[in-house]
Amino acid sequence: MASVSFQKATRNFAGQQRPAVDELSLDVEDGEFLVLVGPSGCGKSTSLRMLAGLEEVDAGRILIGDTDVTDLPPKSRDIAMVFQNYALYPHMTVAENMGFALKIAGTPKSEITRRVGEVAEMLGLTDYLARKPKALSGGQRQRVAMGRSIVRSPRVFLMDEPLSNLDAKLRLQTRAQIAGLQRRLGTTTVYVTHDQVEAMTLGDRVAVMRDGVLQQVDTPRSTYDHPVNVFVAGFLGSPSMNLFEVPVVDGGVQVGQSVIPVPRAVLADTQASRVTLGIRPEDMEQASEGIAMRVDVVEELGSDAFAYGTTEIDGTAQHVVARVNWRTPPAIGDDIHFAVDPERVHLFSIDTGRRLG
Ligand code: ATP
Repeated sequence: MASVSFQKATRNFAGQQRPAVDELSLDVEDGEFLVLVGPSGCGKSTSLRMLAGLEEVDAGRILIGDTDVTDLPPKSRDIAMVFQNYALYPHMTVAENMGFALKIAGTPKSEITRRVGEVAEMLGLTDYLARKPKALSGGQRQRVAMGRSIVRSPRVFLMDEPLSNLDAKLRLQTRAQIAGLQRRLGTTTVYVTHDQVEAMTLGDRVAVMRDGVLQQVDTPRSTYDHPVNVFVAGFLGSPSMNLFEVPVVDGGVQVGQSVIPVPRAVLADTQASRVTLGIRPEDMEQASEGIAMRVDVVEELGSDAFAYGTTEIDGTAQHVVARVNWRTPPAIGDDIHFAVDPERVHLFSIDTGRRLG
């Protein structure tokens, strides 16, 4: 096993205005599950491909353990990569697919059989070892692709959206399986996804990227509770955090008719007369007064319900979403109000987008 260290790793593509990955510095600990997450085009796949040796590093360097791998070919890096299109060899059985890398490496047959058997057991594939890939379900194929990587006992697993070809239910099951497996094996893992739920549930830490630039690296909980800027605040969470530009008044910020008290220390960070206020939908509690909402849509999800509507801020109608009681949801057209715990609001500079306080 090994740690991974990106040290100002940069990748430029010809004809692009900015680097696809811009001075990425990131340390992944030995045995850690790190998730690189961000919207399409943010540079997460390119980062992973640099680590894999499939993409050149134009500046900076990458270490695996104590080894500088920046200029090493992929096969010398002792990593295993699982892609979203997990191309299995169609003419080989599951066992042959899983053992292929070991065979190439000249591992004795008995040793291959033993390791493949062990990993198949771990993945619930024992009954399928003699089958060809076409006789497997999508989820089983994905497990074979995982198994193929595990059998090699690499120092680091790299995974690029490995669940994106699976249907919703299978995705959930496989996600739990990957998490369990990684904990059991304890192999350092770097996992790329655009799906924030995957990131939050899988990662020991998540690294959020935007436009080639790393925004924040922290535990899922800390990233969610203390986003460093408006981008991270809006990216993590579903439905997204409410973000309003509001005036700063004596003792707090003004949202429509109500004032949300904010500690003086937080606002001491800025001289601005307006700030961006962030409130997560689940931090709004229906009450007799407070932030007003005219309800447009109610989305009932079974154990949860969300009301979408508008609220008036400085005379302009703004979108707002709040979690509501799913047993007694409001009706479309209702005028309702929400109390907000001042401890749970987020404030950001309008100029820089950075978190205040
Ligand atoms: P996605 O989730 O859509 O794969 P991503 O976050 O993984 O996105 P990358 O694939 O790393 O993003 O791409 C980052 C940027 O680099 C994008 O603007 C992309 O268009 C550009 N890019 C990636 N590969 C190449 C290439 N071979 N040539 C030119 N530009 C590229």
